[in-house]
Amino acid sequence: MRIGAHLDPDNLIPVAAELGVSAAQLFIGHPQKWDKNPQVAYPGGAEALRNDAGEAGLTLYVHAPYRINVASTDNKIRVPSRDLFQRQVNAAAEIGAAGLVVHGGHVGSGADPRSGFENWYKAVDRLEMPIPVLIENTAGGENAMARTLDRLEQLWAAIAAANGSENVGFCLDTCHAHAGGNEMAGLVERVRAITGRIDLVHFNDSRDAFDSGADRHANLGTGHIAVEDLVAVATAADAPLLLETPGTGLDYARDVQWLKEHVAH
Ligand SMILES: [Zn+2]
Repeated sequence: MRIGAHLDPDNLIPVAAELGVSAAQLFIGHPQKWDKNPQVAYPGGAEALRNDAGEAGLTLYVHAPYRINVASTDNKIRVPSRDLFQRQVNAAAEIGAAGLVVHGGHVGSGADPRSGFENWYKAVDRLEMPIPVLIENTAGGENAMARTLDRLEQLWAAIAAANGSENVGFCLDTCHAHAGGNEMAGLVERVRAITGRIDLVHFNDSRDAFDSGADRHANLGTGHIAVEDLVAVATAADAPLLLETPGTGLDYARDVQWLKEHVAH
């Protein structure tokens, strides 16, 4: 079992060591802004982080800013989204990350989801991917590209035709899946039947009920997902289990402990 956590970049290495995790996720630049020149907030910059993580045996993942929505039919969102997407892939490659996680995005109410799938195809086709891009399922909205498995199937079919589609992987978020209305039993197998792969699991409990559409993570065992369902996903996924639960830094110790107690190594 490989365990990871989303951490602040500035003291990422010692905190990861203290937690005893072998993977870490970080933001490069501002997670909520159109950051034209994303810089990693680590002493010594990208090269130092790459070297230090390598020495520590730590696998890094970068989470792309939330504004990125390459599915959008609105030029004012889609065009800067593609631009920032490429910058983020490049920045993540500089620190030697194993992947860049990006949300599946959505089209506006009234827009045809098929235009969103087509926009994803174009985004992937034009993207240079020195490292894999991992599309993450999201919890809410009627017009999301990756909330339901039905949509995910259409998204994957569209992307498969693009240049470089072999560099597109999947990040399964357990909170988003539950709140998005996907039964947890057999989920890993159903996803893998569509995507062929699960590269990373965002391993979170859900503060809200099944199919609520709410993206609010909870600490493991304190939310609405049944313990046996979380354990089943952890066991079946065969991918790093990365915590994005409430808290920061050493607060993750409780959830790391929960995993060690509930999931067989
Ligand atoms: Zn997530």
